[in-house]
Amino acid sequence: MGTILGCIADDFTGATDLAALLARSGLPVTLRIGVPATDQDQTEAATFEVIALKTRTSPVADAVGQARQALAWLRHAGAARFFWKYCSTFDSTAEGNIGPVAEMLMSELCVAQTIYCPAFPENGRSIFMGHVLVGQELLSESPMKDHPLTPMRDSSLIRLLAPQVKGKVGLANRHTVLQGPEALKERLRSLAEEAVRHVVVDAVCDEDLRTIAAATADMSLVTGGSAVAGQLPRYYVEQGLVAAPAARRASTKVNGGQVVLSGSCSAMTRSQVAYYLGQCASLRLDLVALAERGVGPAREWLQRQPSDVPKLIYATAEPQDVRQAQERLGLEKASTVVETALANLAREAFGLGIRRFVAAGGETSGAITQALGVTRLEIGPEIAAGVPWIFAKVKGERVALALKSGNFGGETFFEDAFKLLEAA
Ligand code: ADP
Repeated sequence: MGTILGCIADDFTGATDLAALLARSGLPVTLRIGVPATDQDQTEAATFEVIALKTRTSPVADAVGQARQALAWLRHAGAARFFWKYCSTFDSTAEGNIGPVAEMLMSELCVAQTIYCPAFPENGRSIFMGHVLVGQELLSESPMKDHPLTPMRDSSLIRLLAPQVKGKVGLANRHTVLQGPEALKERLRSLAEEAVRHVVVDAVCDEDLRTIAAATADMSLVTGGSAVAGQLPRYYVEQGLVAAPAARRASTKVNGGQVVLSGSCSAMTRSQVAYYLGQCASLRLDLVALAERGVGPAREWLQRQPSDVPKLIYATAEPQDVRQAQERLGLEKASTVVETALANLAREAFGLGIRRFVAAGGETSGAITQALGVTRLEIGPEIAAGVPWIFAKVKGERVALALKSGNFGGETFFEDAFKLLEAA
């Protein structure tokens, strides 16, 4: 049986989060970094194929172009249903890329309507009356308002999405969702009659997500966060599209040293870094020094560390320091300096025998994974909701990677992560 659901994610941690939630079903999931070369691996397509792009903040045309290639690959792998995955906090720039990619996918797939449901209740992200809430705060009042690349200063998905798309935007609110799948389908139908192509759907708990999955399991295109996608496999099993799975787990044994590389400045990452500082050898990256002197001193620091000592290298900083660095270097340069340095240090670490990597930050994870030349990954156990260990081969060596999106995990995440792997 070929691929049932083909997924495209706009960043690497988002893709691993989605892969982890699909893997909870026990069905085969393959995560691919970037669009594979067309003739590669097509015959070995898994039930769920997830393609990780790194296009969250790319120019719109690039994001749309890459998503189009991903769609073509997934169709070739046999998929007839597709999922467009973005962050539960709807991280995007004013121009996109969530809306433009969705419209391209709709046009390629000839569908008149899709839904937008980034809710992830298990991680405290809910959608109510079309507004995103992070815990009990509106998105625009949460720490996401200070994000270095995609500061979210509005909480209304309708207002965020409307300028990104050409078609009409509407809402199926919680009252409808509470009435169950048939009521939601009816609401989608009546919105379709009003030519509403983009429907934001409220969800505040997993039961809501089950209703949404039941109502949309037949749609060719669903968009949203990983949590709604995580509810789809059971409907595919129920509909007989796929046989019930035999659970299988990847081995968690990986030999070699460990390092945390953090380029995320999100509030949760800041407390994770603060907590872990006392338990490891650490190096803080100073952006201005990095821009002036390059990554050489950091590489030398890494070379000096004994191989069995846990290590942390971080650019993680408070919002005022991020602003200061961005004022000094410019926003783009500030990000590039950090991402290039951490990518370089990941390669250095691999050269020094490090095989267990935790990367904190979506963009950061993308840069590190690309630097290591990882293209295909196996999903392992979840460290925290939506953050699994993933295993890959780098130059023939088995490597474990945990790619953590900024606000995911609890304070002890880094420590928890390494405890979950079998001793080297
Ligand atoms: P998250 O998952 O928390 O959003 P990301 O890695 O996606 O984390 O984004 C954080 C961005 O902030 C990256 O592009 C990174 O290069 C940039 N960055 C990291 N540290 C600093 C800093 N000290 N000053 C300015 N920008 C920074």
